[in-house]
Amino acid sequence: MNKPGRVLITGGAGFLGSHLCERFLAEGYDVIGMDNLITGDLANIEHLFSHPRFHFHHQDVTEFIHVPGALDAILHFASPASPVDYLELPIQTLKVGSLGTHKALGLAHAKQARFLLASTSECYGDPLVHPQREDYWGNVNPVGPRGVYDEAKRFAEAMTMAYHRFHKLETRIVRIFNTYGPRMRLNDGRALPAFMSQALRGEDVTVFGDGSQTRSFCYVDDLVEGIWRLLHSSEALPVNIGNPSEMTILDFAKKVVQLCGSGSKIVFKPLPEDDPKIRQPDISKARRILQWEPKVDLNTGLARTLEYFRGRVGAAQAARQVGSERKASWPERS
Ligand code: UDP
Repeated sequence: MNKPGRVLITGGAGFLGSHLCERFLAEGYDVIGMDNLITGDLANIEHLFSHPRFHFHHQDVTEFIHVPGALDAILHFASPASPVDYLELPIQTLKVGSLGTHKALGLAHAKQARFLLASTSECYGDPLVHPQREDYWGNVNPVGPRGVYDEAKRFAEAMTMAYHRFHKLETRIVRIFNTYGPRMRLNDGRALPAFMSQALRGEDVTVFGDGSQTRSFCYVDDLVEGIWRLLHSSEALPVNIGNPSEMTILDFAKKVVQLCGSGSKIVFKPLPEDDPKIRQPDISKARRILQWEPKVDLNTGLARTLEYFRGRVGAAQAARQVGSERKASWPERS
């Protein structure tokens, strides 16, 4: 791969996509961010618009993608990625994982660009093996509500390997475990944005089930470093990138409430269907072949994230306040 070169990042206005755009710009690359903005947000990348090496294409990757000029790499990150989003957008989720991956691979093939697929720990479903290693095939319910995401990503992995084996395309697959950090959407329904925005507003913090299900949370900068190293490696088979430090969701909720200095109380809501009971990445492969492991501990990562969420929750509250004051000052209609 030419270094630095020119990269396309699909889902470039999303949480992870926007951090990747920044990283590649910082490394000297020309970056094209592409997004249809159904879950992405221009606010995540508006600070990049004045950058001479950044370009934004407002486009749906499930349609034919045209990018003029050479490309050295394509990072395919376009997809709804939170349970709430893919439950609300089931067809788009299936389409972007299948048709969108096919289009992005076709473009990579045409440009002879290296291709990196953003896959997910959801490929392991509700796992029967713990922690999850890359050679575990998973326990996925294809017809449950999460099937639209899980199966789309499993298809995307199969399609990526087909391009690798049949077209000899240089491909990489990252299986991303729960990741958090600035630019997560306040209302995307994921645990961290839900808990943090509820705690900051002094609302009840909603833990699903009894909170005994586990997750392992990775700070976004660590994830980006792992992806950077994977792209520049020679490994075509999937690699887990995530933080192996596992905790229950109830403990995670308590930690967020405490960190926010909030008086919110924790309330329990029904567990969503097929919610995985345990999840922890086995990262020995990433350690071995990428010399990668997470560096940011949970307290540090949460403190950085809190700073961002304070700003967003404060801005949303101020906007609501202005809205209601304006409404109050409207003349009554007779
Ligand atoms: N969760 C929760 N309350 C919320 C949102 C999520 O208890 O308001 C739980 C969810 O049921 C899951 C865990 O937190 O067990 C992580 O959920 P998230 O949506 O962040 O990601 P997932 O790992 O399920 O894809």
